Amino acid sequence: MKLKVLERLLNIFFPMLCGICGREDFFSLRLGLCGECIRKTRSIRPLSRCDVCSSPLKEGSCCSFCDSRNVFFDRALSIRHRNDMLSEVLNRLKSRKDFPLSIFLASGSRKILRKLRSLEFDACVILPSHKKISWSSGKERPFLASSRLCKEAEDILEIPFIQPLLKSSPEKQAGKSFSERFFHAYRSWAIHPAWKDRCPERILLLDDVFTTGASVNEASRILKQNGARSVYVLTYLRTVD
Ligand SMILES: [Zn+2]
Ligand SMILES: [Zn+2]
Repeated sequence: MKLKVLERLLNIFFPMLCGICGREDFFSLRLGLCGECIRKTRSIRPLSRCDVCSSPLKEGSCCSFCDSRNVFFDRALSIRHRNDMLSEVLNRLKSRKDFPLSIFLASGSRKILRKLRSLEFDACVILPSHKKISWSSGKERPFLASSRLCKEAEDILEIPFIQPLLKSSPEKQAGKSFSERFFHAYRSWAIHPAWKDRCPERILLLDDVFTTGASVNEASRILKQNGARSVYVLTYLRTVD
């Protein structure tokens, strides 16, 4: 509620312009993206999806993701399917730390999170993407693209944010080929010593984009190896071939 009042006041003195084209309209003031740019973020919804990883399925086919590997998360959900405009929104959010754009990317998350309420998660976790980030105090929360998603999860599910995962490799997944991402994911994260064998049972894992699923799958494996019983994944975007 307080946040809403603050946002309204900020809009009067510093109106939120579209983070892509700079226009101001009804939508940009509320979502950080103008109506015209929002229209370009829409993509066709698949008729059927895998029940586990939510990959779009052609009629009668089985899921190539879940069929070809051990899947360690219980379910992966995404708010939107990535297209050119959404890639641009995410890139700008990451490089310019343009916070208003995260309002748009996280819009739609509340509906999904409310549906997940019945699963009674114990905590939410952000997949760390930088090695240098200090998570040790648990208070410092550096800017990450998925921070807004984490805030929504904390508010709606009334669960704490914890950080049991450490980034152990400085390399990033972006720019790697499909197979490289799977090999690389195996040495990218490690369990924080404080959470070794002590992870809460039900975890919601948050990341900005589900591309090959290699990162969240490996993170889920580590969390389960250290005490988690179920891991659900939620991302802003999903890359669809
Ligand atoms: Zn625009
Ligand atoms: Zn699947």
